[in-house]
This record gives sequence, C-alpha cells and structure tokens, in this order.
Amino acid sequence: VNDIANTIAAGLLARLRAALGPKGFVDDAGAMAPHLKDWRGLYQGTAPVLLLPGSTDEVAAAVRICAEAGVGVVPQGGNTGLVGAAVPRAGRGEVVLNLKRMNSVRLIDAADYTMTAEAGCVLADLQKAAADADRLFPLSLGAEGSCQIGGNLSTNAGGINVLRYGNARELVLGLEVVLPDGQVWNGLRRLRKDNTGYGLKHLFIGAEGTLGIITAAVLRLFPLPRETATAFAALRDLDAAIELLSIVRAGSGDAVSSFELVPRMAVDLCLRHLPGIADPLARRHSWYALIEFAGTAADGRTAAALEASLAEAMERGVVADAAIAQSQDQARKIWRIREELPEAQVRAGANIKHDVSVPVSKVPAFIKRADAALLSLVPGAETLAFGHIGDGNVHYNLCPPPGADLVAFMAKTEAVGKIVFDIAAEMDGSFSAEHGIGQLRRQALLKYRSPLEVEMMRSLKRALDPKGLMNPGKVL
Ligand SMILES: Cc1cc2nc3c(=O)[nH]c(=O)nc-3n(C[C@H](O)[C@H](O)[C@H](O)COP(=O)(O)OP(=O)(O)OC[C@H]3O[C@@H](n4cnc5c(N)ncnc54)[C@H](O)[C@@H]3O)c2cc1C
Repeated sequence: VNDIANTIAAGLLARLRAALGPKGFVDDAGAMAPHLKDWRGLYQGTAPVLLLPGSTDEVAAAVRICAEAGVGVVPQGGNTGLVGAAVPRAGRGEVVLNLKRMNSVRLIDAADYTMTAEAGCVLADLQKAAADADRLFPLSLGAEGSCQIGGNLSTNAGGINVLRYGNARELVLGLEVVLPDGQVWNGLRRLRKDNTGYGLKHLFIGAEGTLGIITAAVLRLFPLPRETATAFAALRDLDAAIELLSIVRAGSGDAVSSFELVPRMAVDLCLRHLPGIADPLARRHSWYALIEFAGTAADGRTAAALEASLAEAMERGVVADAAIAQSQDQARKIWRIREELPEAQVRAGANIKHDVSVPVSKVPAFIKRADAALLSLVPGAETLAFGHIGDGNVHYNLCPPPGADLVAFMAKTEAVGKIVFDIAAEMDGSFSAEHGIGQLRRQALLKYRSPLEVEMMRSLKRALDPKGLMNPGKVL
C-alpha cells in the first residue's frame, strides 16, 4: 500500500513541478521551514512541497492537479495570521500554496479611486503604490510589512483605520478567485453599485482560504490625507474612553481615523523591551487613548480640531493630560507604543491571548467584568487589555503572576478563554473580532455560533468545495 501511495505522491509532485516550473516548486526543507509553522509558534505542520505560482493560470493548474489527486491545498500569504489558519496540519500530505510571487499592481485608476492588485502584494507596498498615485489605501495593521492583500482579504483584516474606513471587506469592489476544482472566477469588476444576484465576493472575504484562492482584487482608494494629527491622551478612567470617543468624533467632523486604547502596562512593557521608546507623558496614568485625526486639506484645521477636542475633554474632566505630536517623528514614536506592543509582549514571555469585540459602549464594562473573573481564577495575574476600542475590539490578554510556573499557567488557557468568551457572549459580543477561526477557534465557533449558522456555513462549504480539499481542518 505504501508503494502505491508513494508512486501516486511522486506522480503528483512531478505534475506540479511540470506545471509550475523550478521557481514555483520548492521542496528544500530549509526553504520550506518558515512556511510550515505559524507566527505565534503554536502550530507546526508538514508538507510535501511549497508551491509558489507566478500567475492565476498557474494557481488554477496547481489546484486542479491537487483536486484530481484528492490532495488538500493550504493557501498562504505573509503567514502572519494569529489562529494557525495558514499552515498545513502535520502528516496530512497537504501542499502549501503561497502567493508571494503574484505581487503586481495590475492597475491604479485615480479617477475611479480603485486599484487592481494581485493577491501576493505586500500590504505596505500597496499603501505606497496608492500614495504614489495621490490616493490612500487605508488598510493598516502591525504586520503590514509582511502580510499580503490576499491574506488580508481572506481574514477580513481590521487594523487601526476601521473606525473611519471599515474592515478589509468594505475596501473590496471585485475579486478574482480560483475555485477548489481549479476553475477561475473573474469577478474583477470596478463597480460601486452592482446588485446582480448574490454578493459572491463576500463569500471569499473572511473565509480563511477554505472556499477558494483569491488571486487578485479590485480595492477602493480614498483621497490622500494631507494632514494628520496624533495625540496620546491620559484618560480620567476606563469609562472616560467612551466619552472621549464621542467628543473626538463630533469635534473632528467624524474624521477620526484611529482611536486605540492603551493601558499603562502596555507603555511599561514597551519601555522595558523595545529600544528607543519614550513615555509620551511625564506622569503615570492607568489608561490612555491614542487618537489620530486625518484631513484632506493641509490648512491646519485637522490639528486645530484635535487640539480643540482635547481641550473640551479636559474641561469636562474626561482627559487628565495629553501630548499632541508636533512632528511626524513624534507621531511615529507615539504609534510605536501601539504597533510594537505585540513584539514587546513576545519578548516579555507567555501570556493567554483573546481578540474579542462587544458593542463599543460596553468595552469598559467588559474589561472590568473579565478582570474581576480572571483575577479570582488566577490570583496575582495581570490583565493587558488594549486595542481598537473605537470598533469595540479588545485584545484581551492575561499575563502570569511574577515568578509563576508558566506550564501550569498556560494549562489554564481553556478555562480562561471560556470565562472571557462567555462574558463577551453575554454582552452581545464576539469571541473573535478580527483574527478569525483557523485551527485555534474551531471549538469556540461550534459553541458560540448557533447550530443554524454553523449548518449554513457547512452548506456553503459543501457547495463550493464538496471534496473538502481547500484549507482542510480550518474554520469548520
Ligand atoms: C504584529 C501583528 C499585528 C497584527 N495586527 C492585526 C490587526 O491589527 N488586525 C488584524 O485584523 N489582524 C492583525 N494581525 C493578524 C494578521 O496580520 C492578519 O490576519 C493578516 O490579514 C494576515 O495576512 P497574511 O498575508 O499574513 O495571511 P496568512 O497568515 O498567510 O493567511 C491567513 C489566512 O488567509 C488564507 N489566505 C492567505 N492568502 C490567501 C489567498 N490569496 N486566498 C485565499 N486564502 C488566503 C490562509 O489560508 C489563512 O487562512 C496581526 C498580526 C501580527 C503578527
């Protein structure tokens, strides 16, 4: 039996090599290694080969060959996902198909405010390409130097500009997708209005590669901001975050591009673990908001609006102190605290992570309830709650008590998660706000989504991928 299996596998690999050529077929163990484990180091998989197709036709050919052989395909972008969705499982013979060679911008149409890009374009490169055409592509997140637009769309990524511009889903007009049987769907329409039946593109956005492989997308662009104003504001207390959000939304004419919650512990972690970070304020406070306004006119009005909003917030006792960046360089330094916090956390050591959302106004109550519940479960532990509070999204992490036995602490991951997710669910929230399901949250999906929702998802999966070969073992 082994001989027959080996012969079939060898035949499959030979066909893939012939279809993709030497640039597209990598079986060197060293070159494959970074593609087999996830960014957080939670999952280590195996694969017979790493495929690097250079065109949509090559993706289609590879998928067709794998479908005929009954072999699973794991689409992969920058492999920065946080739920183990982009790596193969161990010992299942799944091939990894990474899109990085498909990195051309096919078209930027400034008048249409659209950009058509291949799936393997790195997000930061797309932001730059848009800016070079005097346009903004607003998707922005900590991993933007390595994540790919195909991965961003497949995870419906959020990031720091959702408040103003929406999630990745809101930034897509059209898609090109290779379906699980190798057919190519060309839905690269550049239309703002197109009510012609079911919104098929939405099936693939946020599907984590389980319904097909995105090979290109038409993305929405916006006027390039000429002026941004950034502040780091110390809050009276946690509840003040929601009051401040209302003040700045009104004061800016709803031009708040970011509103991030930063706890004191985050500042301390960055000061301790990252070189060149400075505390933006002289005195310590428990909670801060990092606020950014963006305006399309370079006339000083954006900065003035931010200053006026903060003055009002101080007068009303919502904000205790604030630093407004006086230069791009100062703004960048403030942003480092938020953007490099995940890196500081990695250096600080193990912690138990969650990415939840609740209605925006309930974020402070959620944090207080979860803090109380967890600190009674793990006395002496510290919670680190930060993130995109303007979207009701909290990265809610539990750090071990000083000197704790880390293995015993991490063994509580499931019990801790149950408490956090139950509280989020009771507050009409979600157990996964922007990171998705992958391998990590499959059980939670079954528990917190209704049986009807899960069955609808299974029906869609069966309809598009009846053999279950597209990113098997992820999401459902
Ligand atoms: C430091 C850091 C900060 C982060 N900040 C944020 C944040 O603020 N907001 C946020 O939402 N996420 C954040 N993330 C998570 C991650 O960066 C995003 O999920 C990102 O969108 C993943 O893109 P990627 O190219 O790395 O995808 P990958 O990790 O490679 O893949 C993610 C999923 O998409 C699938 N996939 C990839 N490419 C394709 C394709 N072309 N077609 C079909 N399926 C595909 C994969 O199979 C997998 O299921 C962060 C991660 C890190 C490490």
